[in-house]
This record gives sequence, C-alpha cells and structure tokens, in this order.
Amino acid sequence: MQRPPSVDAVLRAPAGVLAVARFGRALATDAVRAAIAAARPALREGEAAPGRAALADAAFSKLERSDALSLRPVLNLTGTVLHTNLGRALLAAPAIKAAVAVMAAPAALEYDLNSGARGERDDHVRGLLRELTGAEDALVVNNNAAAVLLALVVLAAGKQTIVSRGELIEIGGAFRMPAIMASAGTRLVEVGTTNRTHKRDYEQAIGADTALLLKVHTSNYRIEGFTADVSPRDLAVIAHAHSLPMMDDLGSGTLLPLDRWGLPKERTVAEAVRDGADLVTFSGDKLLGGPQAGFIVGRAELVARCAQHPLKRALRLDKLRLAALEATLRLYRDPDRLAERLPTLRLLTRPAAQIRAMAEGLVAPMSAWAGPDWRVEVVACRSQIGSGALPVETLESAGLALHPIGGGSGRALAGLAGRLRALSPPVIGAVKDAALRLDLRCLEDPAPLLAALSASLGERAS
Ligand SMILES: *Cc1c(COP(=O)(O)O)cnc(C)c1O
Repeated sequence: MQRPPSVDAVLRAPAGVLAVARFGRALATDAVRAAIAAARPALREGEAAPGRAALADAAFSKLERSDALSLRPVLNLTGTVLHTNLGRALLAAPAIKAAVAVMAAPAALEYDLNSGARGERDDHVRGLLRELTGAEDALVVNNNAAAVLLALVVLAAGKQTIVSRGELIEIGGAFRMPAIMASAGTRLVEVGTTNRTHKRDYEQAIGADTALLLKVHTSNYRIEGFTADVSPRDLAVIAHAHSLPMMDDLGSGTLLPLDRWGLPKERTVAEAVRDGADLVTFSGDKLLGGPQAGFIVGRAELVARCAQHPLKRALRLDKLRLAALEATLRLYRDPDRLAERLPTLRLLTRPAAQIRAMAEGLVAPMSAWAGPDWRVEVVACRSQIGSGALPVETLESAGLALHPIGGGSGRALAGLAGRLRALSPPVIGAVKDAALRLDLRCLEDPAPLLAALSASLGERAS
C-alpha cells in the first residue's frame, strides 16, 4: 500500500499555505488531516496515493465551504414583502448609517448631552413617537410580543382581561394571544362568538376582578359574512364607564395613512390613540419599516408604570437598534419623500409595469441557467404584504414562472428550488401550480441575481 504525503508536506503545497493564511494553522491542519484520512480507504484498495497539491486543494475547498456565514443575505422572490422568516423590513440607508456609527464608538445611549447627567435610552425616540402618534408618552422594547406581554403584566397581572372570541389570534409560530396572557399572569375572559361580539357581551362580563378590556387586530385573517364587532372607540367608552383601561394591540403599526400611496387602508397608530385606547402596542419591523422593536404608546401614567417595571429592563433595546429606529422614525417627518427613502414602502408601491419590464429582461439568463428541461415565462402575479399586515389585500406584480418541460413532478420542482437556494446569494422562490415562481417585486436591482446565475454557470462549465 502506498503511503499518503505527510500533513506538513500538504500544508506546504500552495493551497495549504493559502489555507493557513486564511483560516489559521489549527483549522488548516485539521482539514488536511481529514483529507488524508478520506484518501486512506482507496490506498488500501491499492490505488495510487493522491498528490499533496490535490489533498491541499480538497482541504482548502472544504474550509471555504464551512466558512460561509449561516445568517446571510438572500434574494426574497417569494412575493411576500415583509417575510418574517426572511427578516421582515429592510432598513433605510439613514438607519443603517446610524446603526453603523454607534457600533464602533461610544454613544450617548443613557447620557444627556445637555446636562451631562444620566439620561434614558428611550428618550432618543420618545419625542418622535409622541409627535407621530399623538400619544402622551411612549416606550420601546424588543418586539411587539414583548410590548403586549409587558403591558399585560403591568395592567392586568393577577386579574382578568376581557377579549372577543373573534380576536384570539395566533401569529405565525409561538405568538398566541391566550398563551401570552397566561405568561403575563392575567386570566383570559372570552366574550362573544367567533363571528359576532356585541357591546353587551363586554358589559356583562365586567366584574370586580376585571382589570382590562383588550382589542386585538386580527392581523392574518379576516372574518367575513354575518359578523359584528365592537369598534375600538365604543370599547374605550365601555372601559372608561367602568373606570377600566382599554388596550389596542394593533400589530403592524402604520404611522401614516397608506391610502396616500394607493395602498389598502390600515388604521394608523394616531387613529387608535384618538379612538380612546389608553395603551396602543405595535411592531417596528412590519409596515413601519424599521428594525425589530415593539412600542407601547398612550397615557403617560400607564406608560410610566410599564417603563418602571423590572421586565422593561429585560426587554429593552440595544444601541444599534435604537439608533436605526430613531433614524427610521425621523424619515416619517417628511411624508413626501418617504416612499423613496423607506425600502418597505418603496417595495410596496413599486409599479407592476416596472416589475414586468425587469422580468422580461431576466427570461434569457434564467433559461440559460435553468437548462433545457425548463421553460421560463413572464407571469402576472400578486404580492402579499406579509407579517400579519393586511392579510387579504394583495398587490399587482410580475415575475418568472419556471415550468418543467414534459410535465411537472414535485421532485423536479423541489430540486430546482434547491438549486436556487444553493446560489450565492441564495434565491428564495415559491412552488405553486406546478411551477417555480419568482415574484420580482423585491428585486430592485437585478445585478446580484445575474451575477449569481453566471457564477453558477461558470462553475458548471469548469
Ligand atoms: C405581529 C403581531 C404581534 C407580534 O409582533 P412581533 O413584533 O412579531 O413580536 C402581536 N400582535 C399582533 C396583532 C400582531 O400582528
């Protein structure tokens, strides 16, 4: 049996030297040992020993593959703009700049530059939130689930919270309203029925143990047909007549009326405040278009109680997100330029004709990449807003459909979806109606897709 080259000899080959320089001696040595071990069975069969260059190359490629970051950018061609699994909102340029600036330098996070005294971290956004929502006071926490949890703990722990049966939502994954209530230690009292809840249902349920009337935005479904619910304004009136607070969990917080941009109407935070809610909760990374965050805005005395609760400390934001959030909120002061500057709004308002024109330019490169087994065509489609915002409304869009020639087996489609995910950057589409569909609404610049396709073609050719 031939003997393989020594570890040292392999490390001295050009790819070995490169591996040490790039990944460090420890990892390079381990990878070379693994490459040598992998060659041994063939040697025992009597085959010739691989050269040190080949072993070094194998070690280097393996290190390179394992070096790719797990959390990395992808191209979202799913047709869902605010895709929770793909990280929801993209940050605006000023928000990115603000976050980067405070990453590598000390920042006045809890420091008042006017007085030189200690400040509060939420002060960086409190004034903006008051201005944009009309609320007396505001605070910010990790996400809207945290905002709801904190507000329920402060307002209703150990007591009852009344909610309509039509509003006991589950938002993708683990956010279920009854479970959040249980975590907050408040007893859920369900009133009404799935499709109809009336004022008297709430009035009859209020008792000595009631602490809160809660309204929850049915973010990801709509109940239609023979329905009735109590408006937030009427619910606030009922609550106040019994000296109770009313809280409105809006979910996706819109700060400005979206119909201004031709988008479906969604109640704004300012409207919820005006309608009499004592506290309003909403997300930072849904329609608002900022970093992950959750807000509690409303009556000063209640917001202050939330701010002073020990849970607030556990749920607070770090300086990166606060910086990005402040910069995002500032963009809202100039609504005329918002659709240009805020990526979420820019993507939601992209004209279908522009998206279609881009799709037409991508048919040829996509066909060349997909190969002779696939037919590529431009198709009209409908994008979703996503993240439990406006569940029923969709936006006219366009994209590519890749059809397997000779009939679609699910296996072929899954294989193609896998090939798209293996591109760099990975491309995420959706399989629907026996085709792989790529909605191009969220592809503002085709360059990264074209580069990924041609890099992959180049690899196959070499
Ligand atoms: C999305 C949503 C939440 C959870 O918000 P996160 O920011 O994802 O934690 C809570 N309530 C409603 C009504 C929602 O739509």
